[in-house]
Amino acid sequence: MLATTPLLDEETNPWTSAAMRFDQAAARLRLDDGMCKVLKSAAREITVHIPVQLDDGRIEVFTGYRVQHSIARGPGKGGVRYAPDVSLDEVRALAAWMTWKCAVVNIPFGGAKGGVICDPKLLSDGELERITRRYTAELMDAIGPERDVPAPDVGTNAQTMAWIMDTYSMHARHATTAVVTGKPMELGGSRGRSEATGRGCMIVTLKALQRLGLDPASTRVVIQGFGNVGGMAARLMSQAGFKIISIVEYDAAVYNPRGLNIDALLKHRNETGSIADFPEAENINKDEGLYQVCDVLIPAATENVITSHNAHKIRAKILCEGANGPTTAVADEILAEKKIFVIPDILANAGGVTVSYFEWVQDRQGYFWNEKLVNDRLEEIMVDSFDAVVSFADKHEGINNRTAAYMLALDRVASAIRTRGLYA
Ligand code: NAD
Repeated sequence: MLATTPLLDEETNPWTSAAMRFDQAAARLRLDDGMCKVLKSAAREITVHIPVQLDDGRIEVFTGYRVQHSIARGPGKGGVRYAPDVSLDEVRALAAWMTWKCAVVNIPFGGAKGGVICDPKLLSDGELERITRRYTAELMDAIGPERDVPAPDVGTNAQTMAWIMDTYSMHARHATTAVVTGKPMELGGSRGRSEATGRGCMIVTLKALQRLGLDPASTRVVIQGFGNVGGMAARLMSQAGFKIISIVEYDAAVYNPRGLNIDALLKHRNETGSIADFPEAENINKDEGLYQVCDVLIPAATENVITSHNAHKIRAKILCEGANGPTTAVADEILAEKKIFVIPDILANAGGVTVSYFEWVQDRQGYFWNEKLVNDRLEEIMVDSFDAVVSFADKHEGINNRTAAYMLALDRVASAIRTRGLYA
């Protein structure tokens, strides 16, 4: 047990959390101090101040960042976040996370992340377009298909990617679809991209079930977050025969022990704006939603929902981290004591970046794959990566799946750096 309960602010700082996981894995790998310094620092951090004319004629200046944590294994890869609480620390941590995630699934990218401090809910489409275009123009020399490839994240979407692609292409003087992923289909997006993260969660959950000798038809699943990741995971898993017994949202939670009809629940949410009062389920206390007895819990909403303050209440056999950073480093210890099988975020939600990689490949080839090919190749990568992580954890005493995933990732990146050598 933990001797003292840490302060929540300290525990939930993304940079601290990323550093704790890094230190554990680096120590087990016996990485030398010099390599640790290289891997811990971002290769490049760019801050831009973006002047934008608002709809009412006023000029506002927004601050944006792009951090390229590592480009040792290939171009930077990572989303762009528009939110009022974006900070350089957060973008740094998320960029490092992308480096480890791309290395875990062994795709030829480094890690990057971007963000603009703004509240997209308070801005018109025209204002968002102007922010995006100026942000892109400021980063013109830093991004590109061979340099750094942005994608959507919180507060941005396929339309944002279309504006980035257009702005970049106008400067480059030719259409450059491979500069971003997560684009609309008509601009070189990939089939299967919108389902990819949820599909990846399902694939690794199926692998975990096999390992624990459980059958999907009798598997009770609770999902927090009914957005892109959680909604897709719910749909695909219910089609595959899982029982999705509960969905937990920020404003409500619903429960049906026989399994929810996910398509009907999506329809209900579209019509009413909330999952509450779904006729085929019972409303339950949303604050207790994560603590229900189940076989699989998928936090797919936001970070820091499982901390040292509540990890002891989790009653799932498998935790599949659909969101980025849903569990703090301190909570890991509690989950390990409870013998919960954790599929860590850098593996569990890597289906999204994997199909982003496919999108980049297709754009560069100018040849587009059918959905079956995308899904088959995604499955192959997720299964291989799961097997690599879990067998590494099995073989090494005292290593859990998360540390194993970090160790595999750090080792791959460190090996690329060593082989390339340090340029003068
Ligand atoms: P989204 O905005 O589409 O969905 C998030 C959902 O969670 C929304 O329905 C929101 O109402 C709900 N939510 C927010 N806070 C909540 C809370 N405290 N409790 C319960 N519900 C809450 O976002 P998304 O794209 O599904 O991303 C979710 C998470 O997955 C994020 O951490 C994101 O970084 C991560 N992720 C997303 C992708 C992707 O491809 N979209 C890939 C990898 C990781």
